[in-house]
Amino acid sequence: MAHPTRLEAVHADLTAQEVDAIVNAANPSLLGGGGVDGAIHRAAGPRLLAACRPLGGCATGDAKATPGFDLPARWVIHAVGPVWRGGTAGEAELLASAYRRSLEVAAELGAWSIAFPAISTGVYGYPKDEAATIAVDTVCDHLGQHPDALDRVVLCAFSAADLARYEARLAT
Ligand code: ADP
Repeated sequence: MAHPTRLEAVHADLTAQEVDAIVNAANPSLLGGGGVDGAIHRAAGPRLLAACRPLGGCATGDAKATPGFDLPARWVIHAVGPVWRGGTAGEAELLASAYRRSLEVAAELGAWSIAFPAISTGVYGYPKDEAATIAVDTVCDHLGQHPDALDRVVLCAFSAADLARYEARLAT
């Protein structure tokens, strides 16, 4: 599959990414959690939680933005991926939607660069290979359909194994 050079995968801490927007793997309450969500809130400082409260939560497959406060990123886009329930509960479409909506929100904000964690692959239990395929394919499709939107999309892997998954898909 051809993919735009605007997409890259890195092995890094998402909270340190120097991009316009980082995506949070949030839960529907948007009121914080563990995993990457906890790390983002710690790095952004307490103003992030205060900014999330009035958003009134977020549906699965959707995304909402706040400022990044103490983060290098100017914005946090809080995306809610699906909990894995065995694969027959619309998980694939909901995960693709979480990526797509994040990219749309980024464009609305005027962001040119965005970094994603592997949404749903931690506590939410999404199988990592399938999730990496959906992440790469959904971002590629979006970039292909929106040639003037984002300059740079980073898939941020938290382990070498996660990076290898992205690289394998990017190489196809
Ligand atoms: P979810 O509830 O959507 O599954 P998690 O936060 O539990 O979200 O996990 C999502 C992914 O984020 C996992 O692959 C996890 O390894 C990764 N992750 C956790 N902390 C960080 C971090 N600081 N930077 C990048 N990725 C992270």
